[in-house]
Amino acid sequence: MRSRSELRSVDEHRRVVAGLITARPAVSVAIADALGLVLAEDVTAPLSLPGFDNSAMDGYAVLTEDIATAGADTPVRLPVAEDIPAGRTDIPTLAPGTAHRIMTGAPLPTGATTIVPVESTDGGVDTVTIRESKRPGQHIRRAGEDVTAGTTVLQAGQVVTPAALGLAAALGLRELVVIPRQRVLVVSTGTELVTAGTPLQPGQIYESNGAMLAAAVRDAGGEVVASPMTGDDVDAFRQTLHDHVGNADLILTTGGVSAGAYEVVKDALGQGGESTVEFVKVAMQPGMPQGAGSVDGTPAVTLPGNPVSALVSFEVFVRPALRAAMGLSDVERPRRTATLTEDLTSPRGKRQFRRGVFDPADDTVTGYGPPASHHLRWLASANCLLELDEDTAEVAAGSRVQVWDLR
Ligand code: AMP
Ligand code: MG
Repeated sequence: MRSRSELRSVDEHRRVVAGLITARPAVSVAIADALGLVLAEDVTAPLSLPGFDNSAMDGYAVLTEDIATAGADTPVRLPVAEDIPAGRTDIPTLAPGTAHRIMTGAPLPTGATTIVPVESTDGGVDTVTIRESKRPGQHIRRAGEDVTAGTTVLQAGQVVTPAALGLAAALGLRELVVIPRQRVLVVSTGTELVTAGTPLQPGQIYESNGAMLAAAVRDAGGEVVASPMTGDDVDAFRQTLHDHVGNADLILTTGGVSAGAYEVVKDALGQGGESTVEFVKVAMQPGMPQGAGSVDGTPAVTLPGNPVSALVSFEVFVRPALRAAMGLSDVERPRRTATLTEDLTSPRGKRQFRRGVFDPADDTVTGYGPPASHHLRWLASANCLLELDEDTAEVAAGSRVQVWDLR
């Protein structure tokens, strides 16, 4: 057993895991599939927006001079010569002394210099009575005033948001070049594990890490290749890896890395060969037993089996590395400081991550549930991780502490 001074620090293990996971080459994907991904190239507008001069209001296209005297008590009457709904593809010409009824987004007739909104008229169909004059160009959207063809409208490194996607669609683009999602294989180990739907025998439990980590991977922006489970049998574990690894960019395992017997992940990957996984103890609570390296060239991170340890380890080590490899700039959870509402203890020499409830209204944080690593219920309703550093053994109510905001 190594002494505490030989434990790997949290920061060192974060660096090791971050170094394993690298970005995939850029790919072109359908714009709908680009949501949340990072652009690998600038996007240049192939056309202008608006593409043509059009009306900003439902109303009447007229010549400014023809309605120069129009007012509440001095109405001007004009015959309505054309009806121009949005989508009309020919562009009629407006003759002086006439009006065209026009809808929002419809092309401006040649010769028209202003739009009178329907609200300033009687809404007539054959003739229209206009009770307000307008300046030239009023209520007209000019071609190119939003986007000029040839300009850079989205930049490499930018996350594709719904609005960015909308702009790409408006420009008639069908694909965007992005940094693709990391593909993760999530393998749960344990002979005691059973799938929901199967009645439990004494000593068995329902598998939960697979569902939880697969969700965490997706939540981080990654893609789940598969989330199989396997018993504590080295050959079965190896076969499961072999069957599912496919194009995975990362293998994530849970369980089988502690100090007991039947530690299947350690037994299968700790003996060299095609594995470079190094099993270490990290100065952290929960989540001390960890491993990282590669299996047959695929990066692998082996997390402990206790559900709280597994998810906290994912948050601390894997999530930031995955997000960085997808080119995202906000790879970390937001860190805040908050006032602790109670006295807490923490093991000296280890960084402790307690589940907490952060209350933004009064800027406080309260530890939530026991620090032990099997308490899923508390984890499920916590909204932050409360981080107590390696040098802290006791912290008093009223102290300012750091939290990782999970909201
Ligand atoms: P291990 O790290 O394999 O020694 O497992 C530590 C604890 O976590 C044991 O109580 C396991 O039953 C539990 N555990 C391991 N893997 C899972 C899983 N996939 N789902 C739920 N509990 C698990
Ligand atoms: Mg196990």
